[in-house]
Amino acid sequence: MRKQIIAGNWKMHTTIDEAIILASEIMEKIKPDTEQQILFFPPFPYLPEIAKLTTTKSGFDTGAQNCSSEHSGAYTGEVAAFMIRSTGAGWVIIGHSERRQLMNETHDVLKKKTEQALSENLRVVFCCGESLAQRNENLQNRMIANQLYDSIFHLSPDMMKNIVIAYEPVWAIGTGQTASPQQAQDMHQFIRNEIAKQFNEYLASEIPIIYGGSVKSSNASSLFSQPDIDGALVGGASLFVDEFVSIIHAR
Ligand code: PEP
Repeated sequence: MRKQIIAGNWKMHTTIDEAIILASEIMEKIKPDTEQQILFFPPFPYLPEIAKLTTTKSGFDTGAQNCSSEHSGAYTGEVAAFMIRSTGAGWVIIGHSERRQLMNETHDVLKKKTEQALSENLRVVFCCGESLAQRNENLQNRMIANQLYDSIFHLSPDMMKNIVIAYEPVWAIGTGQTASPQQAQDMHQFIRNEIAKQFNEYLASEIPIIYGGSVKSSNASSLFSQPDIDGALVGGASLFVDEFVSIIHAR
């Protein structure tokens, strides 16, 4: 049985005091629910504080928005997976489209990042998504398959159990334009079928696939009612307590 996952990606927003208030107020308003996992992805410097907070209530955890593809060494400004683990955080986002586009992260770099994260017992939210031009050319399935096969489908089935896949069409991120529930469902089903093809049906039925791209309280329940949508990766709306709480309650 797949748990629903609602993740807030705070990107490069908030001061540390604002981050603590945001996490605390959300946590106060949510009753523990064994069927749901809520994740906060604050900026790196706030990980220890937010991770400390999320250990105080079951159903909550904290993760980083990125990690290095290298284990350690002379990589000024980089943050290694073991460092993230040492803050108490349990998760990391890998392959967000902003990093693919703005930092030129390739499939191979993302493969190395995923391996680093898993070797430190971090769970990974692995993002994939097509651009508007690719969707207009009906290339979305091929693009998503390439992203999955080139960066994570070499893993063992045991390693794959620590992956959550986030389908985030690039044209829907931060634009206010959400994929329709049917468009999202079609892609989630395609991804699940690809997992079954590469691994097995059981793994395909166990791996959570969450949707990201302008999720708000007004569209969350229609997305969550789709059989292959197991939650959401939320950017903008995760910075507002009542909005994020409504998304959590939208199941
Ligand atoms: C994201 O950053 O992963 C995201 C989905 O952002 P937004 O919800 O703002 O579209």
